Amino acid sequence: MDMQTSLLDRLFDAGHLIDTGIDGLYGRGGGFEAVITGFERLIDAHAPADAKPEVIRFPPGMNRAHFEGSGYMKSFPQLAGTVHSFCGCELDHMNLLQCMAEGEDWTQGQQATDVVLTPAACYPLYPVIARRGPLPEGGGLFDLQSYCFRHEPSKDPARMQLFRMREFVRMGTPEDVMAFRADWMERGQKLIEAVGLDPELDTANDPFFGRAGKMMGNSQREQKLKFELLIPVTSQANKTACLSFNYHQDHFGHTWGLSTADGETAHTACVGFGLERIALALFARHGLDTDAWPASIREALWG
Ligand code: AMP
Ligand code: ZN
Repeated sequence: MDMQTSLLDRLFDAGHLIDTGIDGLYGRGGGFEAVITGFERLIDAHAPADAKPEVIRFPPGMNRAHFEGSGYMKSFPQLAGTVHSFCGCELDHMNLLQCMAEGEDWTQGQQATDVVLTPAACYPLYPVIARRGPLPEGGGLFDLQSYCFRHEPSKDPARMQLFRMREFVRMGTPEDVMAFRADWMERGQKLIEAVGLDPELDTANDPFFGRAGKMMGNSQREQKLKFELLIPVTSQANKTACLSFNYHQDHFGHTWGLSTADGETAHTACVGFGLERIALALFARHGLDTDAWPASIREALWG
């Protein structure tokens, strides 16, 4: 049995994750949720006191037109999840039930709805902020959290299909958003150290699809548009990306017509916390029994 499977099995046995029969789709136990709640409070405590972001919570589905406009299908078609529904007549319904009863594919007639699953917490944000008109003086700062879907079934407990991402998003001038990202790269490391984990900052790239995608990934890395904080979860050697720091340049500003108070195309950046991955890193480091975690860690999370 490999390391990853054994951590997953131990998480099931401890009741931290609940097996649904689908890789990467798990229920969460109370102890697991308490770690996430505690860590989110710690994120709030480590955020700059004067920042005052606008708090917005979107559901884990987004407007399909906004998803299409974002260009996600150009870059990551392999990860996207769309919501389909039955829209047929009674005869179609009878055929569907018959297919189901015979163990045949009953999904062929399902039709796309106007909802797709949110791929990253910040995707629903840009078009709705752009709709408000130009950003106020000083730009915008937002606090988001959402379940996100990525079709990447895996036995690695750190690679889920539905997981939560907490994000802060900054919109404004290139200088402002770069300063925001640099600030969070430092704060993120301190935050992770405060719970007894060893973070390693590295440049990174997103898993762009196909051969052209390889070039996009290389270019993203060369331009240092994405950094990640890597933390051991299932392996000391192959660490897991638990926080991401992304600079989108004017991609979303341009896509959605988002502008600064001066009428320039807005630049954007986001910092994303993979909440399940951070909880898993804590369980891997401190053990599955949170009552037995070092007092300093318990104090930091729940003190
Ligand atoms: P990304 O948009 O890929 O940078 O993702 C933001 C954060 O979400 C990452 O830093 C991870 O911590 C987390 N994350 C990404 N993919 C997954 C996944 N499949 N399962 C759990 N967490 C993930
Ligand atoms: Zn983001």
